[in-house]
Amino acid sequence: MIDTGYLFSKDSSRIFINTCLGCTGQCAYCYLGKMGYDNKRTVSPVKKAEDLIQELEEKVKFSKETLITLGCFSECWDENNKQETIKLIKYFLKRGNQIQLSTKKQVSVQEIEQFKDLINYLGQLVILVSSATISGWKEFEKGTDSPEKRFKTFEVQKSLPIPTVLYMKPVLKSVTIRDVDLYKQVIKAYNLHDIVVGSIFGEKETDETVHFSNKRELFYNPISEETTIKQSLRQINGLRVFSRSTEAMHFYKEKYKEEER
Ligand code: SF4
Repeated sequence: MIDTGYLFSKDSSRIFINTCLGCTGQCAYCYLGKMGYDNKRTVSPVKKAEDLIQELEEKVKFSKETLITLGCFSECWDENNKQETIKLIKYFLKRGNQIQLSTKKQVSVQEIEQFKDLINYLGQLVILVSSATISGWKEFEKGTDSPEKRFKTFEVQKSLPIPTVLYMKPVLKSVTIRDVDLYKQVIKAYNLHDIVVGSIFGEKETDETVHFSNKRELFYNPISEETTIKQSLRQINGLRVFSRSTEAMHFYKEKYKEEER
């Protein structure tokens, strides 16, 4: 067990890593404020990847089966911390770990070509492109890359063995559902194979608390519109619709294991 903000892990199954704490994305629904971090102006000093790795190696028992999750208290692809995120990705790819990176920034093909020779299987590194609204971007996600810009990240899977997933999370009541047709256009334009339709984190106590904290302050607060959205998206041929990012990660890991047998 480790909980420094920069590093969080309950057990060896999953480690959450942030190279800084706080974000300038200014999302209206962001949970960072409830966790004691700023989501408007300030971020903490960036931690060096080497220091985080050393701390992990000293304090946490993990193996190559441990899922690495980058960025739950930060935007891991900001200009100030991107280079440290890149070093972490290289380190964990070499170790054989599966890595998920969630972002509202554009990740370009040129930036991640450097990982190509380190990837052992399709889905060892997965990029989740977060978006809770398209038409309401300026109102709800005003400090992030525009949807148009961030969706260019989906170009990655055309030329590299790195799945890019549309991360429709959190589903915002009466907001996200308005854009289902726009999302369908994005799915078609980029020929996407995977989408995660995920719940908002809120203070209403439910069976499932967030996985990056032990404090039981935030919980999955699903709404019925998620089911409606998923039903609509399941009409698209060949599209896999998940409810959790870990389900998408599991899909690729199992596919790889199946091929290895
Ligand atoms: S990008 Fe993520 S961490 Fe940053 S403000 Fe938006 S929801 Fe919060």
